[in-house]
Amino acid sequence: MTTQTYTGGCHCGNVRYEVDLDLAEGGGRCNCSICRKTRNWSMSVKPDAFRLLSGADDTIDYSRNGLTHWPFCKTCGVRAYGYGDIEEVGGKYVSVNLACLEVDDEKLAAAPIKYFNGRDNDWWHEPSDAEKKFL
Ligand SMILES: [Zn+2]
Repeated sequence: MTTQTYTGGCHCGNVRYEVDLDLAEGGGRCNCSICRKTRNWSMSVKPDAFRLLSGADDTIDYSRNGLTHWPFCKTCGVRAYGYGDIEEVGGKYVSVNLACLEVDDEKLAAAPIKYFNGRDNDWWHEPSDAEKKFL
């Protein structure tokens, strides 16, 4: 396990963060209603591995259920991270949008992709091959 510190943020630069993670653990693609529409590819870390450097006041929070939050930048609309508290996945987490990290293409491409059937709350099975193509 090689945890490294990466920087990342939204498109316009208002939202900036630092996160400690191991890309080799892979990022998740999920078929739940919001992940599908945003084509989310993300990795979750414990809150103490994530440091918001700027932009706390530059986002609008989006939460449909009060448990998961997907703040997006007021200026550029990019959703650079999310956070929440879900008992089934170990409590409080921050979910980092891997496409928002500043990292070499080769390094990012080497990160495994893990698929989750979040739509049916069946997290430990993959969606169908057809659906995986557009997640
Ligand atoms: Zn922005």
